[in-house]
Amino acid sequence: MSSDGRDPDYADSRAFALAEDERDPLAHFRQAFNFPSERGGHAPVYLCGNSLGLQPKSARLLVIDELDVWANLAVDGHFRSERPWWRYHEACTAGFTTLTGAAPAEVTAMNTLTVNLHLLMASFYRPTRTRYRIVVEYGAFPSDRYAAASQLRFHGFDPDDGLLEWRPRDDGRFVTDDLASLLDEHGDSVALLLLPGVQYLNGQVLDMGAICELGRAHGANVGLDLAHAIGNVDIRLDEWSPDFASWCTYKYLNAGPGAIAGAFVARRHLDSAETGQLQGWWGNRAETRFRMAREFDPAPGADVWQLSNPPILSLAPVVASLDLFLEAGAGRLRDKSRRLTGYLEWLIERRFGDRLEILTPPEARGAQLSVVVSANGIEPKAVFDKLVDYNVTGDWREPNVIRLAPVPLYNSFADVFEFAERLDAVFGDLGAGR
Ligand SMILES: *Cc1c(COP(=O)(O)O)cnc(C)c1O
Repeated sequence: MSSDGRDPDYADSRAFALAEDERDPLAHFRQAFNFPSERGGHAPVYLCGNSLGLQPKSARLLVIDELDVWANLAVDGHFRSERPWWRYHEACTAGFTTLTGAAPAEVTAMNTLTVNLHLLMASFYRPTRTRYRIVVEYGAFPSDRYAAASQLRFHGFDPDDGLLEWRPRDDGRFVTDDLASLLDEHGDSVALLLLPGVQYLNGQVLDMGAICELGRAHGANVGLDLAHAIGNVDIRLDEWSPDFASWCTYKYLNAGPGAIAGAFVARRHLDSAETGQLQGWWGNRAETRFRMAREFDPAPGADVWQLSNPPILSLAPVVASLDLFLEAGAGRLRDKSRRLTGYLEWLIERRFGDRLEILTPPEARGAQLSVVVSANGIEPKAVFDKLVDYNVTGDWREPNVIRLAPVPLYNSFADVFEFAERLDAVFGDLGAGR
């Protein structure tokens, strides 16, 4: 049934899904996570890791460890514990570099995503009278759009003029050539491209390498928002070299609501006086920080962008979660992800091809599929609400998009099959069964 003949060996049966799980080398990682409760007699089918990843059992333990350090050592937790707080963020380095291709000096853990976008724009969005525009994609995640618009206003520009939108084609897909044309027309006035690695609404993986090249060719800086990309698709910041990037850690990285985010600054900007970053004491070199000197002694690398001592309780789950990624291996995860999401796509096309339309381009997707309900006379939101009744967690995004993301670390082929079974039941309940 698959329109282009991909993955012909899938089968529409529970036995097939269970056999796939049986031979999945990553299947045991499912046991490392806490799943939501049963509801209405239905076990959870959780396909929402694109929005909030499930809780790793080890995250809970690491948070309790730090609560114990605080209880037992109090202020000595800064220097005397097993993982002293004054350098705690360094425990994220290996995970961040492995998942992004960055060098250790180029990454740090700090703040949350939108805060980082602003801080990094303070360094890398330095508009002049003639070069001041910011390119975002049409339909950008609101926070990114608000951040870009408010930076324009902060510098005295009108967002109506200063914000340029890369528009998708009629089918909703972003085409790199269209960005190139936009820049051919307006490039001289563009100071910054602020674009995602994976577009949150349609799930499309954008050509991050080409975006970075286009920015460079037009003399604009490039910032990548990797919120939906990290822990999901291959990222090669070493090759692409945007000026900066940032990502949250609560989506595919499973570090919990509001967990501490990651940031990247390209090595060509490190140790440069040009960036003029906003400073706080945590950006001071660790070894001299507690001399409490009047003069700022910059930390090497991206760490200099840190401002405050980080909330350890929001950093511990990041460390726990990254350890799971290092253990599973990004390559193996991506391989499973292709096959797992491929199975979801195949089942949707086979069973629901007449009632659902998949927006996510098959040749440019990560774990997520975005679908719209196309069945005549069926209220799309009713389909989503009924899925919730059957304890299926995806998410609803206005105006009409249902996002589903089977996550290779903890979702199974049986989850995907069960989703299809419950969706069948939902359409049956709504009078649109087969
Ligand atoms: C999830 C997400 C955010 C959320 O921002 P926070 O600062 O973490 O609340 C912002 N931008 C994009 C593109 C996202 O996907």
